[in-house]
Amino acid sequence: MVSPGVPTTAEVVQQAIRRALPVYSEVEVASWFCLAPIVAITGSNGKTTTTRIAGHLFETAGRHTVIAGNIGLAFSDQVREATSRSVVVLEVSSFQLDHIDRFRPKVSVLLNITPDHLNRYDNSFEAYAAAKLRIIGNQQAGDVCIYNHDDTHIRTHITEAARAQGFTPVAISQKEEVETGAFLRDGNIIIRIENQEEILMQAQDRSPALAGRHNLYNSLAAAMAGRVMEVRSEVIRNSLATFEGVPHRLEWVRTVDGVRYVNDSKATNVNAVWYALESYSEPVVLIAGGRDKGNDYSSLVPLIEEKARAVVAIGESKEKVLRELGSHAPEAVAADSMDAAIEQARRLARHGDVVLLSPACSSFDMFENYEDRGDTFRRIVNKL
Ligand code: ADP
Repeated sequence: MVSPGVPTTAEVVQQAIRRALPVYSEVEVASWFCLAPIVAITGSNGKTTTTRIAGHLFETAGRHTVIAGNIGLAFSDQVREATSRSVVVLEVSSFQLDHIDRFRPKVSVLLNITPDHLNRYDNSFEAYAAAKLRIIGNQQAGDVCIYNHDDTHIRTHITEAARAQGFTPVAISQKEEVETGAFLRDGNIIIRIENQEEILMQAQDRSPALAGRHNLYNSLAAAMAGRVMEVRSEVIRNSLATFEGVPHRLEWVRTVDGVRYVNDSKATNVNAVWYALESYSEPVVLIAGGRDKGNDYSSLVPLIEEKARAVVAIGESKEKVLRELGSHAPEAVAADSMDAAIEQARRLARHGDVVLLSPACSSFDMFENYEDRGDTFRRIVNKL
């Protein structure tokens, strides 16, 4: 049984495979002992946030809720808490899906698939996408897959798999009115199931902690998970309105001299930074850089040109960040520490701007982990 931190290429796993021993991931084994229905959430970005929103939603509904998985609480540690009347909300990463066999969620949620962790999949996006799609591999009639309809790759795959396997596909979209699922019309979130339409709420009545287009996807996904598990609309509405946010994900830290400081340390890939920049209409001083995972920054260039007041580059990748992003901003500087980066950002920002730590890289070059990086940012900002 492999923990998600152990790559399939590790010698010990390879030896087991060579001897034809079964290799299982930890969520696979834990699921054998699970008495409760599982809502399993995966995607390249938004897993933790969506897991938290869904967890909050089931708790608000008064259901006994077990939140586990990639979120930091091993499923095997938590599984015995769950009875047949509980609901398990499980965050699953692609690594946890690598070695599943019978793992079968009642409800799967597939948020998005964008390049990340390609180093663990022979630099193959196809292999990485295939791992994520494994989440629906054992779903059958009576099960549900909530999927992002605006992602063509996901849409095609889920529609075909639903036909072949018999599970129910439920779409979420910000672009189209879907046949079954959740979508937007005139600023309202609409739920449509079996040709019955219902206005859930106005999108803008969601908690401020759910700002940004990415969080609208996360909200739609969690709302539909609630709906298919028979949570009342009123409870879904209340949960989305009262959600308190997750640390290190576009977390507002403090406003100093009219400048908002935001900790998005969990943005460890390019797509997360895209959504972070997209969330602001104000000019942004972006602090980015760290351990690069082979990033292609080109998708960020239009947003940098439109929104960046300046780029402050940190970490191992600072030269690349300066070259590929900084060159498209009015000003760009490198900094050797978080202290220096915040000092530079403070100097460059003007009243009304946002200083955004959204690194697009992992943190291990300068910090223990992304939490340590975000905590450091927060601590320094709180002393300004
Ligand atoms: P994960 O658990 O998949 O890493 P998180 O909820 O921890 O996802 O968020 C990681 C980063 O991605 C944060 O910077 C967050 O602002 C951003 N993010 C959250 N949801 C989405 C989404 N649906 N699409 C793109 N980026 C997102």
